[in-house]
Amino acid sequence: MNHRHPIVVIGAGPIGLAAAAHLLERGQDVRVLESGSGAGAAIRNWGHIRLFSTWQYNIDAAARRLLETPTEAYAGGWEPPRDTRLPTGSELVTQYLEPLAAHPALASRISYGHRVTAITRIQPNGNGVDKTRSQDRAESAFLLRTATARGLVDIQARAVIDASGTWGTPNPVGRSGIEAIGEADARAIGMVTSPLPDSLGAGREHFAGKTILVLGAGHSAANTLISLGRLRQHHPDTRILWGLRGAANPIRLYGGGPADQLPARGQLGTSLRRFVENGDISIVENASVTTLERGEKLGVLLADGRRLDVDLLVPATGFRPDLGMLSELRLDMDQIVEAPRELGPLIDPQFHSCGTVSAHGERVLSHPETDFYIVGMKSYGRAPTFLMATGYEQVRSIAAFLAGDRAAAETVELDLPETGVCSTDLGGSCDLPAAGEPAASRGTPEPLAGSCCGTPEPVDIGFASGTLHGHTELLAER
Ligand SMILES: Cc1cc2nc3c(=O)[nH]c(=O)nc-3n(C[C@H](O)[C@H](O)[C@H](O)COP(=O)(O)OP(=O)(O)OC[C@H]3O[C@@H](n4cnc5c(N)ncnc54)[C@H](O)[C@@H]3O)c2cc1C
Repeated sequence: MNHRHPIVVIGAGPIGLAAAAHLLERGQDVRVLESGSGAGAAIRNWGHIRLFSTWQYNIDAAARRLLETPTEAYAGGWEPPRDTRLPTGSELVTQYLEPLAAHPALASRISYGHRVTAITRIQPNGNGVDKTRSQDRAESAFLLRTATARGLVDIQARAVIDASGTWGTPNPVGRSGIEAIGEADARAIGMVTSPLPDSLGAGREHFAGKTILVLGAGHSAANTLISLGRLRQHHPDTRILWGLRGAANPIRLYGGGPADQLPARGQLGTSLRRFVENGDISIVENASVTTLERGEKLGVLLADGRRLDVDLLVPATGFRPDLGMLSELRLDMDQIVEAPRELGPLIDPQFHSCGTVSAHGERVLSHPETDFYIVGMKSYGRAPTFLMATGYEQVRSIAAFLAGDRAAAETVELDLPETGVCSTDLGGSCDLPAAGEPAASRGTPEPLAGSCCGTPEPVDIGFASGTLHGHTELLAER
């Protein structure tokens, strides 16, 4: 391992910053490259959403130790949030990530406005090492091509931890995993919006009185639909269409309602059902989008020949990892969910619906490319069930390994609560395939009546926190 260069962490989200805190604690030289202008740049996009998990599970242990270390330059100190509260995305940023990134031990190590576009390897003499070259590969440094305001910069590293998340690469709205014809154009002019728009807050004027199609069947869709349903109560000319990939199955769509073991999750389904039953939201079944035609309205052409004319299309179709920037590295990925190979079967949404993944660390996350790791949301690939607590354990183990403490790297533990932090859809949970079962042999899951397994769709977790003119908040503080 080449020790002349720092360990580079890509992304100053919760997992990237936690990685940096663990590496600092172990005396490692670390540098964080962040494309945004501040910490938690991706989370700021869904700042109005309230998390499922309480503060207790959202703060990394090493980050907490760092924040609680009194320093002269940090005179104000850090006020830890109450463990039992559910923060919004914005609160996660302002009450935790921003203070952490501003800590004197870390601040000078973070470069904002630095977007990594490619990673490869380079010999000490400057000669390049592309993917096909094996000789001295492990001893070569990494080279990160980085786009900055001053142009492209090449930065070298002795190890790379990719914590760049998946927010920047939402799944397309087109069928079969590819963009609909005309989709890029419709996105560019904003007729396809960003996922999870703040339709009760900053985006209210933009959505009021419009015809809006929401595509997807997970919590992102539910959040968006409930916010729009509330908006419609004040702007009755707002028309809301809910496009589903398949047929409408009430248990899948609304979950167990009051019988749900997660009260907050049950409340989400109950609210959504009420809006549908009251006629505020119209369901469009079998909404398989082939083409988006841009005009005064957005023409949404479906596979069965139907056409919907809408003002805005909100995609709630999940996310996928950007693997393009990693194409010069030797990765070992699960071919179904695009997570590190051993992790894939444990989180495949066709089988797995909750945060029940066993603790995993450096060994499971390693690749043939020595000293390179994908962590955090991105490590789950296309699976939607990632939890911060899982990522904090991932980076604790990797930091221990990179600092030479193999015993600590091997001992992985994860303390997740039984309820309150996980969900993949509004329905029940599914069985897991056997751990370690090869991806290719996973086969087709049997559709289970009333379960999420029949027609898996990518989803997110979290709750819209907005209130409008005194409406009760969706989720009461615990
Ligand atoms: C709506 C919603 C609600 C959620 N609720 C919960 C919850 O209640 N509990 C929970 O545990 N988890 C929750 N999650 C899941 C997950 O924990 C969060 O998405 C979390 O932010 C993931 O952290 P991360 O650090 O892996 O990625 P991110 O937070 O996405 O951070 C990645 C960072 O990398 C930067 N970046 C991206 N590309 C590049 C690049 N090429 N070069 C440099 N920088 C780059 C981004 O700007 C960003 O700052 C939720 C997710 C969503 C979307």
